[in-house]
Amino acid sequence: MSQHCTDLHRIAYGLTRHRFPFEDSVIPRNGVYILFETGEYGHGVDRIVRVGTHTGPNQLRSRLKQHFVQENKDRSIFRKNIGRCLLNKDKDPYASVWELDFTTRVAKLKNGHLIDSAYQSNIERRVSDYIQTNFSFCVLSIEDKTERLSLESRLVSTLSLCEECIPSIHWLGMSSPNEKIRRSGLWQVNELYKEPLNNQDLNRIEVLANEYV
Ligand SMILES: [Zn+2]
Repeated sequence: MSQHCTDLHRIAYGLTRHRFPFEDSVIPRNGVYILFETGEYGHGVDRIVRVGTHTGPNQLRSRLKQHFVQENKDRSIFRKNIGRCLLNKDKDPYASVWELDFTTRVAKLKNGHLIDSAYQSNIERRVSDYIQTNFSFCVLSIEDKTERLSLESRLVSTLSLCEECIPSIHWLGMSSPNEKIRRSGLWQVNELYKEPLNNQDLNRIEVLANEYV
């Protein structure tokens, strides 16, 4: 189990690392992204703190922008989770408004009056600052959607099941109100503790890593 996670970290560490601001042209159009965070270490290298992908075709670049750039937590659960921690640390009562999703018109009509636009923009800015300053990522270029989703799930499961991947005591995620984040040490709550990577998956990742570095 941990051997697969060790191999995964070794491969990921060898891939080209991207940081904000990143050039679109150097990111593949389709694939899985692997995130690292300042101060987090595992298997003697940078610890993987999140794995993600996209569903729509050619959306990897825009997905990464939804996390790193676009200041709208309702388009990025990752941003929402970072914001939850920042607010929780401050014991900020605005956390209850941050929880609400304003994507739909109905939601806006129902709860729109609760939004303090200036305050919310300020939180979005803090989330961007934190993400842009502390996260870097590498990518595996994968054209096929089914393969992307299946690999994402197995990667997340492998990381969550690994006993060597432990968050540092300073990890921001420890301030999350979500127990799954605190317990897994990962910025995600889905696909944890399921089917991990097998030997074949690892070989495939090795091939993908050599194709795109
Ligand atoms: Zn591990």
